[in-house]
Amino acid sequence: MSMDIEEFRKAGYAAIDQICDYFYSLEEKPVVAQVEPGYLAKLIPQAPPQEGEKFEDIAADYQRCIVPGLTHWSHPSFFAYFPTACTFEGIIADLYTSAVSNPGFNWICSPACTELEVIVMDWAAQLFGLDAAFMNSGRAGGGCLQTTASESALIAAVAARNTFMDAHQGVRLEDLVIICTTQTHSLALKAGRVLGLAVRAIEVGPEDAYALRGSQLRKAIAEETGKGRRPFFIIATIGTTSSGAVDNLSEIREVVREHPDIWLHVDAAWAGVALSCPELRAQLLLDEVNAVAYSFCTNFHKWGLVNFDCSTLWVRDRLALTRALDVTPEFLRTKEGDAGTVTDFRNWHLALGRRFRSLKLWFVLRSFGVEGFRAHIRKGIAQNNVFVNLVEKSPYLRLAAPPSLALTVFRMVPGWTEEAKSVVEEPSVSSAADKAVTIAASGGVAESKTPNVLTRALWERLERRRGDLYLTQTLLNGVFCLRIAIGASRTQEEHVRRAFAIIEEEATAVAKELDI
Ligand SMILES: *Cc1c(COP(=O)(O)O)cnc(C)c1O
Repeated sequence: MSMDIEEFRKAGYAAIDQICDYFYSLEEKPVVAQVEPGYLAKLIPQAPPQEGEKFEDIAADYQRCIVPGLTHWSHPSFFAYFPTACTFEGIIADLYTSAVSNPGFNWICSPACTELEVIVMDWAAQLFGLDAAFMNSGRAGGGCLQTTASESALIAAVAARNTFMDAHQGVRLEDLVIICTTQTHSLALKAGRVLGLAVRAIEVGPEDAYALRGSQLRKAIAEETGKGRRPFFIIATIGTTSSGAVDNLSEIREVVREHPDIWLHVDAAWAGVALSCPELRAQLLLDEVNAVAYSFCTNFHKWGLVNFDCSTLWVRDRLALTRALDVTPEFLRTKEGDAGTVTDFRNWHLALGRRFRSLKLWFVLRSFGVEGFRAHIRKGIAQNNVFVNLVEKSPYLRLAAPPSLALTVFRMVPGWTEEAKSVVEEPSVSSAADKAVTIAASGGVAESKTPNVLTRALWERLERRRGDLYLTQTLLNGVFCLRIAIGASRTQEEHVRRAFAIIEEEATAVAKELDI
C-alpha cells in the first residue's frame, strides 16, 4: 500500500496546497488550541491499523484530528514565550532534508551536509559580528548547529568540565559548581542535573534590572571557593527569558580575567540574532562577548527566521569540545577522519547522528540577505516600541522592567495615582509570591487590589476568554507580570495595536469588577 513516486508527487502537491490554505486561514483561527486534555484519544484508535490505509484518509485525518489541537506559533497574534520562526524557505529546506534523510555524523556520510554547515556557521558568525576566533575558517575555534540552546549549554558544560578536570588533577566531580543567576534559563539547572553537578544561582534583582553584576559574581566565586567548591562554568545571559535582561559582561569580563580556568558560556538564545543589527551591538555587549566568551549560543529558531530547530553554538577552542566528546570505535573510522582533513560533527554534539539543519539556514540567509534579516529584527523592535508607548499612556498598565528589544514585561496597577506608581516602582520584595501585598498595604492600597492581584485577574481573563491573542506570564522576584514577545514573521503593527486594545479592554473589565 505504500506510496510510489507518482503518488508522492500527487499527495505532495496536495499537501503544499493544504499548507497554503492553512497560512491563508491562520488569522481566523484562535491562537491557542481550543481542546481539552485527552481530546485526541477520542478521535484516534488505540492501536495501529492491521492493514495499510489510503493516504487520502490519512491526510484528511491530519486536518480533522491534528489541526484543531495545534496552537499556532506562526499566528500574527502569538506573543507568548518567544515566537518560533517559520518561513517558507525553511519549510522547503526541511522538505529537501527529509528527502535525503541522512544522519551526517561523519564527513563521508554526506560531505555536502558537513561542508555546508561549516560554511553557513561562518556566515552566521559574520552576520552577528562575532570575532574570527569563533569561525570554522580560523585555526582554533568553530561553530556548529545544535537542536536547542539547552543542548548547546550542556555541550559547553561538558567541554568546560573536561578542560577543568584535565587542568586540575585530583579535583572531585562533586566539588564542581556551575554558576548562573536566578534569571538564567532553566537550562542551567537541567545541565546540573544531567551532569550530576551543583548549580549556584546568584540572586539578581530590579535594582540592576535583573542583570548580573561583576561584584556579585566575584562574591559568589569567593563564597563557593571558600566552601571548598570549584566553580568551573559560568552562564551569562544576553536577553533573559523573563525580562530580556543583559548580564553586565563589561564587569563580568574583569572577574573572568582573574579566573581564566572558568569557562564563560554566553546564552543569547533569544536576543543573539539581534546582533545582526550593527546599531544594537554595543547594547548587547558584542565586544565583551568577543573578548571573553568561551562559547556563545543563539537560536535562529526563535526570532531568527529559521524553522525549529536551529540553535547555533560557537566555541573559541574546538579541541576542548572534541577532546570531551570524541569517541571513535573502529566502525566510525574513516580515512579522512584519520588524516584529520575533515570535520566530523559527531564529536561536537550529544548524539551520533544529526539532522541536515544547515540547509534551512542557508536558504533563509540567501533569500533574506543580511539586510532582509536586519529588517525583520528592526520591525520587531519598532512594533515593541509601539506597544511600550501605548502602555505608557494606559491608566491601568505599567512596565515591570525596562523593555528589551521586542519584549515587554508589564503589569496592571490600580490606576494612575502617585501611590500606585510608588507601589510599582518599589523594588520587589522577595521571592515569596504576592509579598507585594505588604508594600501595597503600606502604600494605602487595599490588599485585594494590589498589582499582583490585579495582574493575576487580568491574566486569568485573557487566558480564559481571549482566543484572539496569546501571551504568557512570568514572576520577577515575586512580582507577577505579563510578557509580550513580538517577532513572529507575520505579525504587523496592527496586530500589536489590537493586542494592546484587547489587554486594555480586559484590564478595564477587571477594574470595573474589582471596583477600582
Ligand atoms: C528560549 C531560551 C532558552 C531555551 O531554548 P531551547 O532552545 O528551547 O533550549 C534558553 N535561554 C534563553 C535565554 C531562552 O530565551
